[in-house]
Parts: sequence; structure tokens; C-alpha cells
Amino acid sequence: MDNRSKKFVFIPFCLIAQAYQAQGIVKYEWKSSIRPFVDLLLEYNINIIQMPCAESEFKNSLIREPKGISKYDTREFNKHCEELANKVSKQIKDLVSLNYEVVAILGIEQSPSCCVNYIYTNKGMEKRMGLFMQKLYENIKELNIPIIGINRKHINKSLKELKKVIED
Ligand code: SF4
Repeated sequence: MDNRSKKFVFIPFCLIAQAYQAQGIVKYEWKSSIRPFVDLLLEYNINIIQMPCAESEFKNSLIREPKGISKYDTREFNKHCEELANKVSKQIKDLVSLNYEVVAILGIEQSPSCCVNYIYTNKGMEKRMGLFMQKLYENIKELNIPIIGINRKHINKSLKELKKVIED
């Protein structure tokens, strides 16, 4: 008998590898993995797929200073995000075509690449998706997969949101 789970959640690379964040960003209690999300996904036997980290993969930038979205919003970086988003969306579409369930996609609020709902800029809060997330969303929007943004300072809201979509 094959006992595998056919449920999947796509996570940002840094959710389980905080070392991939820009320098000076990891200020909260989670030093490596943002553990409550991992615990929840394991508890419900969800397959965890780590999406690529657009910023660290761009010109070998594992160690980098934080930059605002306007600095990232270049033709070269957008092309890079588009290539990564195309790979991830193909993976998602392949799973769906096999009748596997992609329960949710997670993002990180305030990230120029991976935010879902908002980012702070020098003009204040902007409601928008990050450069990678926007391209991914455009590729798969017809699948209606919930996309949940994590605020690392206050994780409970997105944790509850994730639990709800898993249990629905
Ligand atoms: S680009 Fe995305 S995956 Fe990479 S560190 Fe930023 S939020 Fe995490």
C-alpha cells in the first residue's frame, strides 16, 4: 500500500533557512526555521516544497545588505524572478495535473521578492506583491491557490490562516 500524502505547501526558501535573509534582518526568535509553520505542516502530513530564494540566487548574493523594492525592480532582476517563477509554476501545475493538492503558497511580508500583501518603502506602506510573488501569481492565478503572507513579527495571524486552509 502506498501511504503518501498528496497535499503540498510551497514555502519561501528562507522559512526553513533564515540564514538566506539579508544581513541584519533576522531579529526575531526564529534563528533557523520559523518553526511553528514547519510543525503545523508536519502535524498535518503536508509535503513541504521550498521555492527558490530570488535574492540570494541573483549574482551569488547569499551575503547581502537589505535593499528596497525600487532597487530590485530592474529589468535584470525581474527577468531572473520570471525564470524562477516559471519553474515553480510548472512544478505546481504538474502536481495539480496529477490530482495532487497544492493547499497554499506562503510568502514573507515586507520582502521585495516574496511579500504577498504589503511592503514598507520610503513612501510608507505599499499594498502589493513582491517581484517574484507577482510573477508566480500571474502564472497560476486560475488555480485559485491561497497565497498567505507571513509577518515574522506577528506570525499568529498567518499561522491561523494556514491552519484554516489546511482544514477546509
Ligand atoms: S527573497 Fe524570499 S526566500 Fe529569499 S530571503 Fe527574501 S523572503 Fe526569503
